[in-house]
Amino acid sequence: MAKKKNQDSGCLIVFVLFIVLGIIHDKFGDSGIIITGVVIAFIAVCAIYANLKMKSGAGYTESDGYDQKSGLYKNKKNNDLSKRFYCHDLSIKIPPCLEGPVQIKSFSDKNVTYRVDLDIMRCTCGDFVEVRSEFNATDPRRLCKHLISAIFEHGTIDHLPDYSKLILTSAHEQKKGVVPYQRYVVCDIGESQAVFAVPQNNYEWLNVYARNRMGANGKPGRYRRFGYSTIENRWAYGYAPPRASEIRRAVAVLMEAYS
Ligand SMILES: [Zn+2]
Repeated sequence: MAKKKNQDSGCLIVFVLFIVLGIIHDKFGDSGIIITGVVIAFIAVCAIYANLKMKSGAGYTESDGYDQKSGLYKNKKNNDLSKRFYCHDLSIKIPPCLEGPVQIKSFSDKNVTYRVDLDIMRCTCGDFVEVRSEFNATDPRRLCKHLISAIFEHGTIDHLPDYSKLILTSAHEQKKGVVPYQRYVVCDIGESQAVFAVPQNNYEWLNVYARNRMGANGKPGRYRRFGYSTIENRWAYGYAPPRASEIRRAVAVLMEAYS
């Protein structure tokens, strides 16, 4: 029934289009037709793009197996992370260091130094060579404590989003590298983004880097780290981020997809 209705309206659009094109041709000649053609093609591309965007995220209905209440898909074929939350792996790009490769002292042995190259994100320490070198150049898991140190001493993080700044700053303050046994995924939560550090080794706690509650002046809060127990399904110290139920649904989906 719906298909027949679509066909009817399609025929009507084509019919009206022909009449309009005829009028344009009479008034403006061939150039009028060309301009109209370009405008129609542009509108069609926009419509196709909007449709694709809707399919990849919003606008899901019960017929897709989407359960509004739980935020999960009952239908297994739609059980795809990207369709429920706009998510992508966190990527951290640091501009090349003008001084070239730099020497960073070992944190435990003052007689040892490592060669750190911010251009290709490399360090000569054992942690980097054995654990981190397999990750690609913009993957935060590549960042050993010496790379972090080099970023703060010889590079810049000013261009990065606040959540990346928080992850790097806390690693730097603790004199540690970015934890390599977690997958860092950025998801849109409402108007803002949250980073989920999904544990890869059956570790109970999952960190969420999300905006805190609004400040007194009504401005969005700063990013902070929230701990979530994936076993007890509760927030550390009972302190939940804003939009906690949405974030919990994202945690469930990410754990299912990546842990
Ligand atoms: Zn290192």
